[in-house]
Amino acid sequence: MKSTITVIGGGLAGLTAAIASAEQGVDVVLFEAHQSLGGRARCSPAPYVANDGPHAFYKDGTAWRWLAARGLTRPAARLGVAQLARVRFRHGGGLKRCPPAGLVGMLTAGRGRRAPVDRSFRDWAGAQFGTSAYRAAAGLLGPALFEADPGRLSAAFVFERLLRVGSWRQPVTRYPVGGWGALVDRMAARARHLGVRIETGARLDAIPTAGPVIVATSLDAARGLLGDGSLRWESGRCVLLDVALRCSRADQCVTFDLQDGGFVEQFGAQDPSLAPPGETLVQGSMPLWNNESKSDGLRRLEALYDLCAPGWRGRLTWRRDQIAVARTGALDLPGTTWRDRPAINRGENVYLTGDAVAAPGLLAEVSVNSALIAARLATAN
Ligand SMILES: Cc1cc2nc3c(=O)[nH]c(=O)nc-3n(C[C@H](O)[C@H](O)[C@H](O)COP(=O)(O)OP(=O)(O)OC[C@H]3O[C@@H](n4cnc5c(N)ncnc54)[C@H](O)[C@@H]3O)c2cc1C
Repeated sequence: MKSTITVIGGGLAGLTAAIASAEQGVDVVLFEAHQSLGGRARCSPAPYVANDGPHAFYKDGTAWRWLAARGLTRPAARLGVAQLARVRFRHGGGLKRCPPAGLVGMLTAGRGRRAPVDRSFRDWAGAQFGTSAYRAAAGLLGPALFEADPGRLSAAFVFERLLRVGSWRQPVTRYPVGGWGALVDRMAARARHLGVRIETGARLDAIPTAGPVIVATSLDAARGLLGDGSLRWESGRCVLLDVALRCSRADQCVTFDLQDGGFVEQFGAQDPSLAPPGETLVQGSMPLWNNESKSDGLRRLEALYDLCAPGWRGRLTWRRDQIAVARTGALDLPGTTWRDRPAINRGENVYLTGDAVAAPGLLAEVSVNSALIAARLATAN
């Protein structure tokens, strides 16, 4: 009889690890510090259902395929023709229907190409495609990097993401209907169905000594739990503004700020259940410069809202703003790849998962992918 696996953390990583381990017939217990599951994938309560963290899932990734194979991704919304007609790009002083030609050329010429790991995106892309194309590409990646200066990151890391986010003409993005909390509920139901014992409001202060342990917390929390100060990795810093507005036909659905890396999406357009009838839910982000205050970043984000949702201040029915520091996943600097991040196997039957560890993928995909690796290692013993 295999010993019980303990999973610490009930976000996407912890739930994935618990499901994958239980599917191998192993006894699993999951501890979550909060009263509710989901971690960053929680939502604000109805009637205004705003995602705290993840917004879009990328259906061309392995994480989506793993969830879809278990029927966990449905129902999911997508950008339809009406929403795609209202995608805009901020460049050249205003909102435009099309991105600059240099960026289109970069995306077309870049298909199937790989960028070097050891050069910065600024150096490599500037030399290959020109400064204005590089700058627009950096702006397009706002919702994937949440970083004010993507040029300082590894060219390979940024370019891989650019080719995925840049497939906006045939978007691969999907949105769990009812918000990411609905996906979390489905994952929790599957885990319980497989016999996983889930304890919420249960913060562990130390690693249990018996049986394999999967630590599925943020790196910050893992540092304390594992007593390992080396558990650090680069991540983004941005300001977030979520609002509900009375509907207007003048509102854009998706706005990429190619100048500053800001991003605003009217999630209520593809999923009206996120706000009461006659209203729509909009979420936006703006990366913060070094030492830039939350209020200054918020002012820049509100100015972007002025462009893509004219008169929004007078139509406001709900609002919240926040700052996100080291909550938006891993960023790889030149000379590093995901393989250089904190290892999953910590030895002595302890495994580390999450969105800043040594696993491939984009944003939350890293949490899911690392959890699958951790579950495989933990159940093999
Ligand atoms: C603004 C924003 C936008 C984002 N957009 C996207 C997006 O569009 N697409 C995408 O794929 N990803 C996106 N992400 C990233 C995504 O939210 C995260 O990658 C993902 O949710 C991380 O999940 P996780 O389970 O690894 O960590 P978490 O969600 O942080 O879960 C960790 C859990 O561990 C618990 N915990 C911590 N310490 C303990 C303890 N001692 N005992 C018990 N429990 C503990 C915490 O309470 C938490 O519930 C975004 C993130 C942010 C902030």
